[in-house]
Amino acid sequence: MEKLNGLRCRECGRRYPATPVHVCEFCFGPLEVDYRYDVLKTVVTRESIAAGPPSMWRYRDLLPVEGDAAVGHHVGFTPLVRAQNLAEELGCREVWIKNDSVCHPSWSFKDRVVAVAVTKAKEFGFDTVACASTGNLANSVAAHAAEGRLKSYIFIPADLEQGKVLATLVYSPTLVAVHGTYDEVNRLCSEIADKYRWAFVNVNFRPYYSEGSKSYGFEIVEQLGWRAPGHIVVPCAGGSLITKIWKAIKEFKTLGLVDGPVATKMHAAQAAGCGPIVTMIKNDTDVLVPVKPNTIAKSLAIGNPADGYYAYKTTKESGGFGAHATDDEIVEGMLLLARTEGIFTETAGGVTVAAARKLIEAGVIQRTESVVICITGNGLKTPDALYERLEVHVKIKPSLSAFDRALADLKSHAV
Ligand SMILES: *Cc1c(COP(=O)(O)O)cnc(C)c1O
Ligand SMILES: [Zn+2]
Repeated sequence: MEKLNGLRCRECGRRYPATPVHVCEFCFGPLEVDYRYDVLKTVVTRESIAAGPPSMWRYRDLLPVEGDAAVGHHVGFTPLVRAQNLAEELGCREVWIKNDSVCHPSWSFKDRVVAVAVTKAKEFGFDTVACASTGNLANSVAAHAAEGRLKSYIFIPADLEQGKVLATLVYSPTLVAVHGTYDEVNRLCSEIADKYRWAFVNVNFRPYYSEGSKSYGFEIVEQLGWRAPGHIVVPCAGGSLITKIWKAIKEFKTLGLVDGPVATKMHAAQAAGCGPIVTMIKNDTDVLVPVKPNTIAKSLAIGNPADGYYAYKTTKESGGFGAHATDDEIVEGMLLLARTEGIFTETAGGVTVAAARKLIEAGVIQRTESVVICITGNGLKTPDALYERLEVHVKIKPSLSAFDRALADLKSHAV
């Protein structure tokens, strides 16, 4: 089956063969994978998808890989949880959590994009993969490179959380900590990518890499029973995930796989300390003003997002909006999700929960409508955010009388 037309410029529409290129030579626009939907229509059905493996590769026909996955065979198909307790707290009828805090193998949705990028790197015969990362991408690239027996160079801002640094180093990549912001790391990586023949997953492999995020959107629709929700609240860093969830829903519609109308509103969630995309939405302008990040949500701390313009357009086109979350609101969001649903998410998830709450309170999301909140990473990687907030309640000697006294004490203090 010849399913790809190749790559296509998102701005001027010029076509390119499917090779490791990412910018248009004529207008410098970003390139995107272009599928032959007429061909796909004849082979992709609900049955063919359901007959696939319980992983993102059940959507393989809609991903830009030639053969089988080379790495990451168990990535994706994470739980979509009906969050009844959270719904009650938020005062909203139908709330779902798409839970990629348990995405295999590195506990964030980045495994989806990396599995595609590394498979592609092997197809194109690269022996080295690389990335600029705010943390989760570093973990995932290092893990998949190890599995694929490729060399890896990982570039991170030097002030990254210890948990994310460790969860990269354990896979034995070459880890380069750069004294600078993510945006400076990324600029450096563009220069390195020009000089060395490496597969930079989010630079020269970005057109392929970003397609992996579609699987998150496909899963939401399939797991809802082939239905598109009323709202999806998406955490934004570079702004790619939100655009690809939207693309996924539109592709399913094109292929006739969705029941009923598609009227999903896509909402962007960002930290107040690094929210250039949400600022565009609030100011209703397609001009992005870069910021210098200052937030505990480091995985979202991209001040000059590559897909910021397209993320803005996605919210506009779908009729969605956006919300900022302060550091305090981020921590409250993490604790709220943990307390109500038993799900421990990282700071990015705190941003999404806080943003969803604001959008509901503002009436942007109506209380009778269905909303999916995107939880994209695991809390055990960012314990730093909580160390000073949470404390052991009772410290005692190992005796029953000591516990009895402590319990009486606790009860007398309870309100
Ligand atoms: C990278 C990341 C995002 C945002 O992804 P973009 O596609 O860059 O917008 C969201 N959540 C987590 C946990 C991430 O690591
Ligand atoms: Zn172009």
